Amino acid sequence: METMQNPLGDFPYALPKIDTSKAINFIPEAKIFEQLEQADADPVRVRDIIAKALDKQRLDPEEMATLIAADTPELTEEIFAAARELKMRVYGNRIVLFAPLYVGSDCINDCKYCGFRCSNKQAGRDTLSFDRLKDEIHALVDGGHKRLIMVYGEHPKYSPEFIAETVRTVYSQKFGNGEIRRVNINAAPLDVEGFRTVKASGIGTYQVFQETYHQPTYADMHPTGPKSNYLWRLSAFDRAMEAGIDDVGIGALMGLADWRFETMSLLYHTIHLEDHFNVGPHTISFPRIEPAIGTGFNENPPNAVSDHDFKRLVAILRLSVPYTGLILTCRESVELRNEVLQFGVSQIDAGSSIGIGAYAAKDEDTHRKSQFELADNRSLDEVIRELCEVDFIPSFCTGCYRLGRTGEHFMEFAVPGFVKRYCSPNAILTFQEFLEDYASPETLKVGNRQIDREVARLNDTQRPGVAERLARVRNGERDLYF
Ligand code: SAM
Ligand code: SF4
Repeated sequence: METMQNPLGDFPYALPKIDTSKAINFIPEAKIFEQLEQADADPVRVRDIIAKALDKQRLDPEEMATLIAADTPELTEEIFAAARELKMRVYGNRIVLFAPLYVGSDCINDCKYCGFRCSNKQAGRDTLSFDRLKDEIHALVDGGHKRLIMVYGEHPKYSPEFIAETVRTVYSQKFGNGEIRRVNINAAPLDVEGFRTVKASGIGTYQVFQETYHQPTYADMHPTGPKSNYLWRLSAFDRAMEAGIDDVGIGALMGLADWRFETMSLLYHTIHLEDHFNVGPHTISFPRIEPAIGTGFNENPPNAVSDHDFKRLVAILRLSVPYTGLILTCRESVELRNEVLQFGVSQIDAGSSIGIGAYAAKDEDTHRKSQFELADNRSLDEVIRELCEVDFIPSFCTGCYRLGRTGEHFMEFAVPGFVKRYCSPNAILTFQEFLEDYASPETLKVGNRQIDREVARLNDTQRPGVAERLARVRNGERDLYF
């Protein structure tokens, strides 16, 4: 650890101690290519696999490979229909909403696709001071947000202590009726000690993307810095679990290697976590590469994923890992987002700004400080209104996390009727809070109609309890959950 002090506060500069002696490479590269090549999309077999998925069983890699091979229009339609049905059966019509909060763009890595890479001379480097961080929180809370993902470049100044303090700062802020109730983080892999420090600050999910699971592509994309170590990154969650973080989010950046290989690898990663820690990832992300300032590489990524293949990958993931949340971000267009929401996405961001300081400052310069560009620039209010119009119920629920129902104890799906008993009522109550405190008149109207529809869908045992709490929320009480 260096002794230099961090100008942002009294935090030591620190990089993790990279040690891969205990790391396992659980991505069988040659075998995955073999499985993809040998997959036979016989319609009878494909339908058997769909039936297994609809029975909410996690698929095996050979089965996923068969779904990937099933690319005729007819079978593709059957896969889409099954994904829609499974999503409704497991998750219902809830969509969890969050916002990304970029803390700092300094970075010592040189990822070819990222606007923050160290060799990018056009990048505007910036890190939020704690005062600016509070301003960002204020703006986010005033917009109605309750859940954040905080994002950091990889740099010794973003030490575990610094990350932990930014998280604690977020939780400490209250504005009117509002506060951030759950903070997830997306940050470079840490050592076990570093993960312990960050866990102690009360993070929700720890997220880090492998970017590409294909080792030769990985080496090409990440020429220098700690991120050039494939195995260190691949083993990040093993160390996080050792440190007690059992709520993790995996992901791959689509466009680097063949999406079929990446999707299979995401399943292998899931199986590794299940086998070793008894708990799979909480979420999977599959962002596609977006344009970024000073980053010509992104104009023509080597394995760009078409909209059609993107929809197939979402539907196939939904069927393969029925109990894992799927995240879709504002990188994607409104049209595509609306379509794949039906296939099994369970969390989306909304009203997002990804410039450093962009929520509070709203100045032009924050664009230069962005990691990449967003395609969906609707406000949270608009997204919510549009979700209600197509019969989704927006949810800001953080009940499980705050009652310790995470990771191994993540009972959402293990306990029969859990979603009906807890998730649906909590979605209704947290959505009513949003409507009372932040909605525009138009969204208030559409939203109240949606709440009425949802209450009518509850069973007779549940309805009185939810109605009683709803009345309390309308009378000004906050943070009621089951
Ligand atoms: N620096 C940490 C790391 O690399 O893991 C965490 C933050 S990084 C800013 C978050 C994620 O943004 C990366 O894991 C990568 O998948 C994604 N990303 C980077 N450049 C992108 C681009 N041009 N388009 C879309 N996503 C991008
Ligand atoms: Fe740095 Fe992360 Fe961007 Fe790579 S993806 S340059 S590590 S911020």
